[in-house]
Amino acid sequence: MNLSNHREKSIVVKKFGGTSVGSVDRIEGVAQRIVQDIESGQQPIIVLSAMSGETNRLIRMASEVNPNYRGRAYDMLLASGEQVSISLLAMALEKRGYSAKPLLAYQIGIKTSAIFSNARIQSIDTKKIQSVLDAGEIPIIAGFQGLTGEDITTLGRGGSDTTAVAIASALNSTVCEIFTDVPAIFTADPRIVKKAKELKQLSFEEMMEMASLGSKVLHYRSVELAAKFGVKIHLRSTFEQREGTWVVPEGETMEAPVVSSVTHDPSIAIIKIFPLPWNEGFMADLFFELSEKNVVVDIITQSHNEEGQRLAFSVSESDVPRALEIVNKLKPETSNVDVMKEVTKISAVGVGMKNHTGVAARFFKTLYAKNIPIHLVTTSEIKMSAVVAKKHLVEAANALHTEFGLDQ
Ligand code: ASP
Ligand code: MG
Repeated sequence: MNLSNHREKSIVVKKFGGTSVGSVDRIEGVAQRIVQDIESGQQPIIVLSAMSGETNRLIRMASEVNPNYRGRAYDMLLASGEQVSISLLAMALEKRGYSAKPLLAYQIGIKTSAIFSNARIQSIDTKKIQSVLDAGEIPIIAGFQGLTGEDITTLGRGGSDTTAVAIASALNSTVCEIFTDVPAIFTADPRIVKKAKELKQLSFEEMMEMASLGSKVLHYRSVELAAKFGVKIHLRSTFEQREGTWVVPEGETMEAPVVSSVTHDPSIAIIKIFPLPWNEGFMADLFFELSEKNVVVDIITQSHNEEGQRLAFSVSESDVPRALEIVNKLKPETSNVDVMKEVTKISAVGVGMKNHTGVAARFFKTLYAKNIPIHLVTTSEIKMSAVVAKKHLVEAANALHTEFGLDQ
């Protein structure tokens, strides 16, 4: 089929997630949907994730060989999942009479920084994508991967969203469609808040907060890039035709509610150290070493009384062993270290907070009324977060959802 009159058609970057391409049948379904879009006048550029479960399977094999290895070979292994899904989709489109070209990062020059497993995209050679379009072929691009020198890199878990947005912005598209297994972004996780509602719209800023606070629906950097280049993200279901949620610049959202969502991060832990001597060298050394070892520290609190200084900070559960190794190496012998697991960070997010007072009061009052103790707190211009015991998560999330008017 000849698509070379594509210049009159609108170019749309469409990314399909792991579940959407989770089986051969599903891949056939995606091919069918792409055919419909072409027939309705679109010129699609496709970006895919690996088939669901595949990246995890590859990681498991890698850790059987060496649980601590990170680097070139690891990224090459992880990137292989997307090679499979793009090839199968290209075949499914060819079967339907469309010529499609599966493309790996090296073929379209997706250059990244040299940080394996967490690389950042630096540039994309749009001429190559353009020439595929000019040849009347549908580009089917492997998400999640890039190149540094001649080595393959990957962009971090969930990174194919970022590939899609980067391609959309490189091609000056104003929209990037992200197809997934949920119909929309919700006001809270519907598995824990039964009254969670679909959001029609959300600002980039809110979505970035949600992504960094534990919502897995979009890769953080994809939203960051979208905001920087003004690419609207339309997150929608692969299995339904209707629209989902639009993530757009703040000025384009409708009246901003004070709180637009309640988000949680289930897998954090708190490390407490007490007593510490009253000198600042320890803190500087500790946080330097933690960052050197790529342990991401989230909330930090520090206080002191006559007995000494008290320090508490939160990290993701999986980083606890590495963090403890560093703490135990640096801390004075007289300090005790205590790790709190089974905690979760619950947050209320909304751009409307910028212009409203009393949000903190309502947030704390709601948790207090349910007798839910708060272990750590952090805030920004558009969010309030508290660390609470995991056993209180459902109650806390539902109570905050109600308090901030999201049930209706
Ligand atoms: N396949 C990769 C992952 O599972 C990238 C992605 O799906 O976005 O993390
Ligand atoms: Mg994803």
